[in-house]
Amino acid sequence: MEFLLNLLFPPHCPVCDSVRAIRESVCCPECRRKLLEIGDNACFLCGRPTEETEEYCDSCRKRKPSFERGFSAFAYQGAAREAVLGFKFSGRETAGAFFAQELLRMHGEEMRLFGADAVVPVPLHPRKLRMRGYNQAEILAKHLAEGLQIPLEAHLLIRKRNTRPQKELSAAARLRNLTEAFAVPTGIFSNKERRMPESILLVDDILTTGSTLEACARIAKRAGVRRVAVVTVCCAGEFFSAGQRAM
Ligand SMILES: [Zn+2]
Ligand SMILES: [Zn+2]
Repeated sequence: MEFLLNLLFPPHCPVCDSVRAIRESVCCPECRRKLLEIGDNACFLCGRPTEETEEYCDSCRKRKPSFERGFSAFAYQGAAREAVLGFKFSGRETAGAFFAQELLRMHGEEMRLFGADAVVPVPLHPRKLRMRGYNQAEILAKHLAEGLQIPLEAHLLIRKRNTRPQKELSAAARLRNLTEAFAVPTGIFSNKERRMPESILLVDDILTTGSTLEACARIAKRAGVRRVAVVTVCCAGEFFSAGQRAM
């Protein structure tokens, strides 16, 4: 079946978009070398690159986030930036599978140790979802859930319409405004078989300021989730010291 699907819809390289033969790896080896891995010098809480001796990034030191752990794969620059933007706007399943596979290779063990009960994607604004037809964070979350054998809770968080314009608001007001844009739908965990997960892996494609993930983690915790780990493909960060390199 998979063979047939591959014949009909051959995988494309997530970086250069070239069609890949079935027996080859999805990402061309030369493209893979261009993706800059964050590596071991990463913030414990959000996964951003840090200086070698620092456990937390500047942002998390300044304001402790509402999540307990963070995992990310690549620096948001160069080929990785192109690839993740391509994934966002072309939505190729193969790119989602590739990114999930890379995240699991780098952080699978620690993710398992975190012991999440569910994988939850950051929801897309309904208008964007209608235009794009898919949520790239959900594609990624689905592949991660499969790899970790944890249930996917694709609709634990929803994004409401009508977010007030963010301009002209202070940073604190902005975050408050953004937080109000998310919700856990009432009643989804009301039956006995389906309980609110105690801990979740919260999945998004890119971490820049981290305010979307912060807003989602706050809302999930308000609804009863106790522990949150954030998982992103790419992280924005300014500096890279030794040990952080492209493969
Ligand atoms: Zn390629
Ligand atoms: Zn951090």
